[in-house]
Amino acid sequence: MAMAVGHLMRRGVIHRSVFPVLLPKIHRGEQIMSRDSQVIRCQVHDCRGFRTVQPKIRKVEEIESRAGQVIQCRAAVAWEAGKPLVMEQVKVAPPKEMEVRMKILYTSLCHTDVYFWEAKGQTPLFPRIFGHEAGGIVESVGEGVTDLAPGDHVLPVFTGECKECTHCKHEQSNMCDLLRINTERGVMISDGQSRFSINGKPIYNFLGTSTFSEYTVVHSGCVAKIDPLAPLDKVCVLSCGISTGLGATLNVAKPPKGSTVAIFGLGAVGLAAAEGARIAGASRIIGVDRNPAKFDEAKKFGITEFVNPMEYDRPVQEVLAEMTGGGVDRSVECSGNTNAMISAFECVHDGWGVAVLVGVPHKEAQFKTHPMNFLNERTLKGTFFGNYKPRTDLPSVVEKYMNKELELEKFITHRVPFSEINKAFDYMLKGEGLRCIIHMDG
Ligand code: NAD
Ligand code: ZN
Repeated sequence: MAMAVGHLMRRGVIHRSVFPVLLPKIHRGEQIMSRDSQVIRCQVHDCRGFRTVQPKIRKVEEIESRAGQVIQCRAAVAWEAGKPLVMEQVKVAPPKEMEVRMKILYTSLCHTDVYFWEAKGQTPLFPRIFGHEAGGIVESVGEGVTDLAPGDHVLPVFTGECKECTHCKHEQSNMCDLLRINTERGVMISDGQSRFSINGKPIYNFLGTSTFSEYTVVHSGCVAKIDPLAPLDKVCVLSCGISTGLGATLNVAKPPKGSTVAIFGLGAVGLAAAEGARIAGASRIIGVDRNPAKFDEAKKFGITEFVNPMEYDRPVQEVLAEMTGGGVDRSVECSGNTNAMISAFECVHDGWGVAVLVGVPHKEAQFKTHPMNFLNERTLKGTFFGNYKPRTDLPSVVEKYMNKELELEKFITHRVPFSEINKAFDYMLKGEGLRCIIHMDG
C-alpha cells in the first residue's frame, strides 16, 4: 500500500506534503485525489482486504512561493467608514519574524467586519483592509517559524495562541496574552507597522488577518494548520463564526441533555450555537430574533420555537419565562445588541441558569441588571471564539466536518466573486442569508 502511494508521489501525482495525511485515510478506505485533478486509481487496504478504488476528486491546491519578495495583488480597501470597498493593487511585504504570508483562496463576511467598517460606536481606523473569516495556503514564512511551511493549508484566526503564556498554558483559557483579539491595533505586533501599502502609504490591517486581500501577512500564532484535503471553500467558515457559536454552546454554556436553550440572534453565529445545543442533546431550542425572515432558515438548524421580541409589549425575558415555567436552562446571545444581552441573562432560570454572551457590543455599551439576579443563582459568562484554542483545537473542529459530524453547507447561502465583494455587505446589511463565501479568483 505504502509503495502504491510512494509511486504516485514520485510521479508527482500526490504531493509529498499530503502523504502523511493521505496514508491513514487510504488505510481507512477513504477517497483521495491528485493535485492536478486527475482521477487516481489505487490499491487500498481496508477490512475487506486489497481492492482498487476510483476516488472522487477533491483538489489539493498548491501555490508558488515568492519568498522574500514584495507581492503586488488585489485587495478590497475600505477608504472611509460605511463606503463601498474599492478594489486596489496593494503591495504586501514579506513576513517578518514569527509571521507567515498566506494566499487567501476563500473568505467570508462576519458581522464583526461590518461593525468596524460602519464604525458606528467603534473607533474608526481607515484606510483599512477588513476580513477575518477565511481559508488559504501558506506562501512563505518568516524567521523563527518552525511549525508552518509553504504549501500548508491553513485558517487564519482573529485571536491567537502563542502556546507560552499563562493563558495558553491554562486549560480553561483561550485569551492568549500576546495575541488576544485587538480590534484597534491595525498593525503587526512585532514592529507596529502594517505589511500593506499603496504608493508607499500604509493601509491598516484588521484583527491581524485582513483576508479581503489575495495575499496577507498574519502572526504564525494566529494560523491553524488543517487537513489539506478539507475543502477550503467550506471550512473557511470555521475560522470565525461557526466555531464561535458551536463552542459557545458546547464549551461554555454546556447544556445538559434534555435541557431548554434560548438563542438570541439567528445569524450564522447564533445558528451554530443552536447546532451546538442540538449536538449536546437539548430538547427545546428557542430562537429569538427581531427579523422574522430568519425563522424559515433557522428551522434547518433544529430550532422549533421562535420568539420575535417586536411582537410583545413586555420584555422578552418575561415571555421566555412564561413559555418555560420560570426560565430557560441556558441562553446564548449572538446579536451584539445590549438589550438582547440583558434579556439573555434575565431569561435563564434562577438556581441553575447560565447565559453566555457572544455578540460584540458597541464601544460605549453598558450592561445593566439588578444584582439580585446574580444572588438568585444565575450565571453570566462571555466568550471569544467559543473558548477554542485556535491552533490546538481548530484542526479537530475541521475533522468533525470531514467525519460528517458537523454540516457546514447549510450555513453557506451565497457565493460571490472577489470583484463583487460589496454584494456580501449588502446581503448582511439587509439580513439576507447566513454566510456569503467570496471566491478570491473571481
Ligand atoms: P448576523 O448579522 O448574521 O446575525 C445577527 C442576528 O441578530 C440577526 O439575525 C439580527 O436580526 C439579530 N438581532 C439584532 N438585534 C437583535 C435583538 N435585539 N434581539 C434579537 N435578535 C437581534 O451576525 P453574525 O455574523 O451571526 O454575528 C453575530 C454576533 O456575533 C455579532 O455581534 C458578531 O460581531 C459577533 N461575533 C462574536 C464573536 C466572538 O468571538 N465573541 C465571533 C464572531 C462574531
Ligand atoms: Zn468573526
